[in-house]
Amino acid sequence: MNLREYREAGKIAGEILVYGKKLIKEGENIGEVTKKIENKIFSSKAKPAFPVQISLNNAAAHCYYTPEMGEVFKEGDLAKLDLGVHVKGFIADNACTVDLSGDDNLDLIRASKDALKEALNLMTPGSKLKNIGKAIEEVIVGYGFKPVKNLSGHEVEDYNLHAGMNIPNYDNGNAAELEEGQVFAVEPFASTGAGKVEEGKDSGIYKVMGLKKVRVGRDVLKYIYENFRGLPFSKTWIKDFDDFKLNSGFRFLEQNGVIHNYPQLMEAKGEKVSQAEHTVVVGEKPIVLTKV
Ligand code: MN
Ligand code: MN
Repeated sequence: MNLREYREAGKIAGEILVYGKKLIKEGENIGEVTKKIENKIFSSKAKPAFPVQISLNNAAAHCYYTPEMGEVFKEGDLAKLDLGVHVKGFIADNACTVDLSGDDNLDLIRASKDALKEALNLMTPGSKLKNIGKAIEEVIVGYGFKPVKNLSGHEVEDYNLHAGMNIPNYDNGNAAELEEGQVFAVEPFASTGAGKVEEGKDSGIYKVMGLKKVRVGRDVLKYIYENFRGLPFSKTWIKDFDDFKLNSGFRFLEQNGVIHNYPQLMEAKGEKVSQAEHTVVVGEKPIVLTKV
């Protein structure tokens, strides 16, 4: 456990989340905001652990905007900002929800935030996963909403964003226990809808599935692996190739299952979703890395 690197990653992730949150305003180009936040990460001592995601309203996660899309924040939007960074592979992942309606979604936002707070207190050695899930569920249900059951928190390990154990957002019966020194991103999602998400269209967020010999896109794959290893990435981060080489490489790699384009995750009934996330080190006194 490289606490020093984790702490550094956590501080940077937390500070950039605060920075990014302020950029989310009605009328702003969502892709430009994404780019500004990513540039902030690129100019820090950390690197992005995945593309900066802004998911609106019924989109729960895995939405990636570029400036060319021309999409802007609208009045009433409920925006989830989710970003992660790593220092030498040690990852900190955090997220928050911004309400552009004024305060229509105050309780929905509070539900995921309070659930996170409860869960963080339980990130102690010997704590059972099902009990953490239960605590999250109780808070969210207490507000009159549903936790999103098919999204969960996740353990992080070096260069591995979704490692080992998951932290459920409900009592899933899993009696496995936390151990001192494990690092987790805990992320309750609260919804006014069905409490589950479905896969939507391709997000433009990619990940290498496994290395294999390829006929086309060999250089592109080499670049991706050297720069991002197994972490999710965006095509827009790759500058060393001309468009033709990059696009044909991506197409071939995707068609052959070498890279995977994550689908967007949409609330099943089209209802609103809020999210809150911190990364924490399990201990008698849990260390919340991303708290600023
Ligand atoms: Mn996240
Ligand atoms: Mn996460």
